[in-house]
Amino acid sequence: MSIPEVKKIWMNGQLVDWADAKVHLLTHALHYGSGVFEGIRAYATPRGPAVFRLTDHLERLHRSAKLYYMEIPYTTPEMARATKDLIKANELEHCYIRPIVFRGYGEMGLYPLAAPIDVAIAVWPWGTYLGDEGIKHGVRAKVSSIQSLDHHSISPLAKACGQYLNSILAKIEVVKSGYEEAIMINDHGHVTQGTGENIFMVRRGGIFTPPISAGILDGITRETVMEIAEKMGNAVVEKDFTRAELIHADEAFYTGTAAEVVPIREVDDRLIGEPGPVTRQIQGVFHEIITGTSEQYDHYLEYVND
Ligand code: PMP
Repeated sequence: MSIPEVKKIWMNGQLVDWADAKVHLLTHALHYGSGVFEGIRAYATPRGPAVFRLTDHLERLHRSAKLYYMEIPYTTPEMARATKDLIKANELEHCYIRPIVFRGYGEMGLYPLAAPIDVAIAVWPWGTYLGDEGIKHGVRAKVSSIQSLDHHSISPLAKACGQYLNSILAKIEVVKSGYEEAIMINDHGHVTQGTGENIFMVRRGGIFTPPISAGILDGITRETVMEIAEKMGNAVVEKDFTRAELIHADEAFYTGTAAEVVPIREVDDRLIGEPGPVTRQIQGVFHEIITGTSEQYDHYLEYVND
């Protein structure tokens, strides 16, 4: 998806012009994927733009950095302030937000601890990742032949740049075969997640999602959906499940910041169907939250103009 240009990008504490937000060719992260990042969204609300769970995302960024021995030279509140200032500077009502922390220029090789840690935040207006049709009617998903990352290698629990090579392979494979999103399976044959989304299924009234131990990112949308479901009186059960169980599901959906809550219409050419009642209800509450019309969940919105 192409990136619409805006005016400013925040880089190492400064607002720079969009065209000047550059790095050297010998930036460590460009060669080895040695960076961590976040994907966050700000939404238009009656009180102006508001960032959904900004602090929680920035805390996850710090946790991802810790896993890779990187110390971010800015605190979560400092980065939250920078994000809000950047949205204001670009006069955006809603946008996608991409903070990135990476090993910069000055060191090569696989012992990079002396490389500088660069920090940047970019924002741009971005439509829903799997499309409006997908949100309304569901997407066609296919199990990828590319296996999920496991805990013995690159941890799925961090949001690290290099690990997305795995997701990119899976995404290209299924899109080239005519599907919209992949379903990843781990070493044990259990469903883990999409390439950039968590996954849920509804079977005989119960709602299920794979546990962290299956090898997933601890998605912030996932956590929000679990809270919504619990308050609806139908708590999500974290449980391993197989591709066959997913094919037999009554409903299934992906969750993620970029994608939001997206029904899955088909799995491996078997029909799950149009979005069912549980998916619709969760989508409805999620929509209220992000548009700033839910008092109960207002604490999840961090208002840019506050
Ligand atoms: N899994 C993966 C692999 C992802 O990249 C993402 C997107 N960050 C998610 C799940 C969903 O996480 P979140 O709801 O925090 O965006």
